[in-house]
Amino acid sequence: MSFDKNKIPQATAKRLPLYYRFIANLHASGKQRVSSKELSDAVKVDSATIRRDFSYFGALGKKGYGYNVNYLLSFFRQTLSQDEVVKVCLIGVGNLGTAFLHYNFMKNNNSKIVMAFDVDPAKVGTDIGGVPVYHLDDLESKITGELEVAILTVPVQVSQPITDRLVTSGIKGILNFTPARLNVPEDIRIHHIDLAVELQSLIYFLKHYPLS
Ligand code: ATP
Repeated sequence: MSFDKNKIPQATAKRLPLYYRFIANLHASGKQRVSSKELSDAVKVDSATIRRDFSYFGALGKKGYGYNVNYLLSFFRQTLSQDEVVKVCLIGVGNLGTAFLHYNFMKNNNSKIVMAFDVDPAKVGTDIGGVPVYHLDDLESKITGELEVAILTVPVQVSQPITDRLVTSGIKGILNFTPARLNVPEDIRIHHIDLAVELQSLIYFLKHYPLS
């Protein structure tokens, strides 16, 4: 299974977790092989794209046979580092943040929120969903070398200064749920998820691009 991860196009890399989840389910149900058509129906990616993606993984499906589920699973586990748990911190234990602290990311993923930060005295010092909530003042002392990912669920007006502190503390990736477009150095990766925009976009598409 030798390949160069850097050669996988970003669009393909983004679909990896989707493929992984489906292949893991197939494996759990005892299935040995899967066709690109079955995969396509399940993950809603067209089969030509799936074939192209899988060719980057060195998984060459055979006609009339499909892809080997065991091979794909071990490939995905290795590539997505599913064997090691990635520790994550969360800043802002409001409604959304609290929901994330209760959510079991380990179910489908290899990540786990291990600590949270807030400034509200009612929340600091508590334990929510098994996760300790610390004061934001303790951010720098609590974030050690092995923590590189943060989830940001704070009010928009405080998001930039907190981001600056996260970067200084060694955080390399931020999942940003605030509507702010954050400024970070080039080597820091930010993924933006604006739930209100996503919902609005879905409603717009339903209205203007009906599927039938
Ligand atoms: P809630 O109803 O609990 O206030 P919310 O998601 O509507 O939830 P927000 O105002 O978005 O509330 O704040 C989210 C969380 O971020 C709150 O728990 C708040 O205490 C916290 N927060 C606010 N300012 C900061 C800050 N500077 N650093 C860390 N956390 C903060």
